[in-house]
Amino acid sequence: MMERRQPIPVEEAIKKVSQYQKHGEVEWVPLKNSLGRFTAEDIVADHDVPAFDRSPYDGFALRAEDTKEASSEHSIEFEVIDHIGAGMVSPKTIGPFQAIRIMTGAKIPDGANVVIMIELTKTFEKDGKPFMSLKRPLQKGHNISRQGEETLKGKVMVKKGIKVTSGVTAILATFGYAVVPVVKKPVIGIISTGTELLQVSDAMMEGKIRNSNLSMVFAQVLEAGGEPLDLGGVSDDFNQSYHAVKSALSKVDMLITTGGVSVGDFDFLPAIYEKLGAEVLFNKVAMRPGSVTTVAALPNGQLLFGLSGNPAACFVGFELFVKPIIYRWCLKENPYPSFALAKLTHDFPKANPFTRFVRAALQFTGSQLSVTPTGLDKSSAVTSIADANCFIALPGGTRGFQAGDQVNVLLFQHEGGGSPCWMPN
Ligand code: AMP
Ligand code: MG
Repeated sequence: MMERRQPIPVEEAIKKVSQYQKHGEVEWVPLKNSLGRFTAEDIVADHDVPAFDRSPYDGFALRAEDTKEASSEHSIEFEVIDHIGAGMVSPKTIGPFQAIRIMTGAKIPDGANVVIMIELTKTFEKDGKPFMSLKRPLQKGHNISRQGEETLKGKVMVKKGIKVTSGVTAILATFGYAVVPVVKKPVIGIISTGTELLQVSDAMMEGKIRNSNLSMVFAQVLEAGGEPLDLGGVSDDFNQSYHAVKSALSKVDMLITTGGVSVGDFDFLPAIYEKLGAEVLFNKVAMRPGSVTTVAALPNGQLLFGLSGNPAACFVGFELFVKPIIYRWCLKENPYPSFALAKLTHDFPKANPFTRFVRAALQFTGSQLSVTPTGLDKSSAVTSIADANCFIALPGGTRGFQAGDQVNVLLFQHEGGGSPCWMPN
């Protein structure tokens, strides 16, 4: 007899999976290899920035008290006793009516308490010695970038669980992280099932299709920050599928299979989970596409994601259930996607018995976000995924939407999740 499956709400399914989340360990990689990785420890300032009082301009360092009498009618002369470039330090101490020529970024010499820009001075020679003169009184401390004005030693500059971007790289370099503590990526095995599947390099054959899920999910794992392991395709044969899954388990932190989770004659994944002694967390989710998405956990906590074979459903299943688990592994604080409100540009007349995720393109039109479904809205569609940068998320129990309606949009390409709850009401 065919098994009857009880659909559970998407949010509940996500919560069930989250109970099996694990955290990755730390590994140290050279700074140049850290881009796109997640920090495994807080990144801390090992010195003040600036590390010393420095000049923000090319000019002269001197004592403000010596400029008191200066005015447009009365210039005051200073003997220039040294000349320092960025990275140089003057051994001299400035005395009364002395100045040191200083370049941007150079350390303020001892005795000086102000810098005047070079444009406001005149330079000349007197008795074979360099001099400069100025015509305005200066205030003590003016034009000096103070030690620690940007940041202080010991401050956490980047928290753990943050993706290394080019901006983060500048921080890592500034504070001496030649090697960076990043989260060791989870190894995620991918097996696709289906006797109909050809390899990408195969010529087309009657009744067959090329295996697109394997490559797509491989890319999704990479995009999310995991380490994909291509375990190939298996045909719809219980023993072959069982052995492929079983032998994968020792090589991976989590396993994704695509296809074979429906209730068709050749959908063997449910029986495989049973034989492995895995607990099935759910085998039907109240969503379209991807209602057959099944997630199981082995007694050791290893997650087995059974994604639909239908490409669009497979894609959505990954974004909803696998990606947050990869993000949590990488210590990301909020692993769930952000949502936005946008205006529908076209009617979407379909009824929505379940929560529906429509692949769509979000764009700015004037000051307004608008959203357009991309191509064929069928779970079997493969080509419309590429144009999508979001999913329109339509609540279950609704009847159809018109152009101009405001709809919730799930931003799967947007990194920073905003709320701990994954979907607004
Ligand atoms: P299944 O979930 O195995 O019943 O597959 C559902 C549909 O998705 C079928 O039409 C399959 O041919 C198709 N399909 C399954 N696996 C893949 C794959 N790896 N790449 C592309 N299409 C697939
Ligand atoms: Mg199949």
